[in-house]
Amino acid sequence: MDAPVTLPLDPTATAASAAPVDLGLQFDNSFARLSGQFYTRLAPTPLPRPYLVAASTAAADLLGLAPQALRSDEAVEVLTGNRPIVGSEPLAAVYSGHQFGVYVPRLGDGRAILLGEAVGRDGQRWELQLKGAGKTPYSRMGDGRAVLRSSIREFLCSEAMHHLGVPTTRSLAVVGSDTPVFRETVETAAVATRMSPSFVRFGSFEYFYWTKQHDALQQLADYVIDRFYPESREAPQPYLHFLEVVARRTARLFAQWQGVGFCHGVLNTDNMSILGLTIDYGPFGFMDAFDAGYVCNHSDSHGRYAYNMQPQIAHWNLYALGQALVPLTDDIDATKGAIDTFVGEYSSAIDGVFRAKLGLATQQAGDEALVNRLIDLLSANRTDWTRFWRRLSQLRVDATAPDDDAAVRDLVIDRAAFDAWAGDYRTRLRAEGSDDAERRARMERVNPKYVLRNHLAEVAIRSARGDDGVRDFGEVERLLKVLERPYDEQPEFEAYAAEPPDWARGLELSCSS
Ligand code: AMP
Ligand code: MG
Repeated sequence: MDAPVTLPLDPTATAASAAPVDLGLQFDNSFARLSGQFYTRLAPTPLPRPYLVAASTAAADLLGLAPQALRSDEAVEVLTGNRPIVGSEPLAAVYSGHQFGVYVPRLGDGRAILLGEAVGRDGQRWELQLKGAGKTPYSRMGDGRAVLRSSIREFLCSEAMHHLGVPTTRSLAVVGSDTPVFRETVETAAVATRMSPSFVRFGSFEYFYWTKQHDALQQLADYVIDRFYPESREAPQPYLHFLEVVARRTARLFAQWQGVGFCHGVLNTDNMSILGLTIDYGPFGFMDAFDAGYVCNHSDSHGRYAYNMQPQIAHWNLYALGQALVPLTDDIDATKGAIDTFVGEYSSAIDGVFRAKLGLATQQAGDEALVNRLIDLLSANRTDWTRFWRRLSQLRVDATAPDDDAAVRDLVIDRAAFDAWAGDYRTRLRAEGSDDAERRARMERVNPKYVLRNHLAEVAIRSARGDDGVRDFGEVERLLKVLERPYDEQPEFEAYAAEPPDWARGLELSCSS
């Protein structure tokens, strides 16, 4: 570290007392116009001597901000929450939710502060939120802070997910400060600026249901429908329609996660976006060696949120949302019906995901069995998920010897089992007259070469923290660049597509962030 660790100069100071900064953003804060039951207005708590760790040019562009606009001292003060931004109306929202299956009556933005809703390019609206910006009335036992490690992980992963084509909240920037933050070890504070059309969660509805504030529940549902589900307004039963569309979006999101081998880690209902976005990145993980029962969060001792449990959990979480909406839908059976559209939607979405991953242009009987056998094979062999699919695109339908497909075959320890499966896969490809070159091009657009493997994030974090004595943010930037083109061959970055090195095998991720 190049600066000594210091405590905040004046812990009672708030950003509200500093002069506002104009970054040229227009704000129109619709959530802040809802009545007071939904939030507490408050300013972020400043952090001393902040520095910019990373910024996303792509996210800045959505706001119409030039990349340099985030690099000024004033912008860094804004991104830390040290100075208000002109037009913002900062607040922390209340919500509740089911954590690991247990209802917790009050959660809320315990360390996130919503600055407001910026009107970006083409009139698209983005709520800007500072995560790690200090305590709020919803902090419970927490310190209101986020550490640099988890902030970099969220920053990289949300941008990576977007570029993979998976719906997600976005990340504008990460700033750091040398202020110590106490987790399993002493770490340092950071603030991540997140962007989303809305940060409303399943748990936002649950809060107003369980506290019997049914007027507020309706106000929230109307707000979300008017802004994001206008087609539900036209339906005969708007709230049922809304629930059904949320169920469908959620189904498609989870199918995409399964396809890229993403485990969220903490699928509590407060971490479920009402817009069907990936939200609240904590101990997430992309699978390296595939294990269908993989649990990425080592605090999840029962494996509730294991990879192969995720779809079931989404359905369970939709029940929690549906229950909260019953005062509005006023019909329990119809509510169940709306929730259960998840099942069919997920089934067709996951079939579509795997058909695309296999490069199948048509739908045929037996496809599901072919997929399931492959998943069992990869799980039994602990084959690297990302590398396997990428290399499978190079398979030739008319290969004459098994070695012709060594690139993919060599990834599976049980070669005989792979050959048996590959024989059936070839038969299936022949049945639709599949062309090798054309199929490969298609498969490479859905099977990424680069994902945010834990060890890649870890290398970037260690160098950003200055674990070797020199703080260097270059690796975060480089990794972001690689992850912005996950489907392209990037020969100069071949190492970023490799399996984890030995030192990374023991990396553990917990809820502490
Ligand atoms: P999570 O599952 O990490 O999304 O967080 C669950 C709840 O705990 C949310 O209400 C968070 O705002 C809150 N929370 C998590 N970490 C902290 C912290 N360090 N300080 C205050 N609140 C926190
Ligand atoms: Mg959360």
